[in-house]
Amino acid sequence: MPKRVETIVLHDSSTPILGDVQKGGNVVVTSVETLISQARANSLWPLTFGLACCAIEMMSTAASRFDLSRFGSEAFRATPRQADVMIIAGRVSKKMAPVLRQIYDQMPEPKWVISMGACASSGGVYNNYAIVQGADQVVPVDVYVPGCPPSPDALIYGILKLQEKIKRTKAKSLGDLKIVEINARSLEAVEA
Ligand code: SF4
Repeated sequence: MPKRVETIVLHDSSTPILGDVQKGGNVVVTSVETLISQARANSLWPLTFGLACCAIEMMSTAASRFDLSRFGSEAFRATPRQADVMIIAGRVSKKMAPVLRQIYDQMPEPKWVISMGACASSGGVYNNYAIVQGADQVVPVDVYVPGCPPSPDALIYGILKLQEKIKRTKAKSLGDLKIVEINARSLEAVEA
């Protein structure tokens, strides 16, 4: 059986006019799943959430020198309900672990986690009773960024790796998406 072709790009100037497509323009044919995965991967909104020194490097990624907006992820959100990627930047204390989990649970699906730095990934130099020895004991981690601290470039590389992972994931087609009826009562429940 021939391999399924996901994307076909036509540059032929003899392309017929379809709707708003100009004659001679490019036409892309792809699946809805691929389109959704591409959109998700290229518009990740990180949660504004830092735990220690690694957070300073995370802030630098969004500043002008490194300019995370080149990759569609500069919109750091102050509420988990508007974010889809959690960057765990710094050591996770045992006291903070339940808070971290609660914030993760408040993020809507689909959501992803980047563990930034040695402390978040393994406890780092803090091999003691107060620090969680790896954030994956609290939340599922998709990408680990090594270093102490990882440079902003390293975090951007981690975000690019996450984008690759999301693009490989088969997104639900529009037909599988549920239409949720929102009424006053369900809104109150969301806001509570
Ligand atoms: S990995 Fe290094 S820079 Fe990051 S939180 Fe730990 S000690 Fe700080």
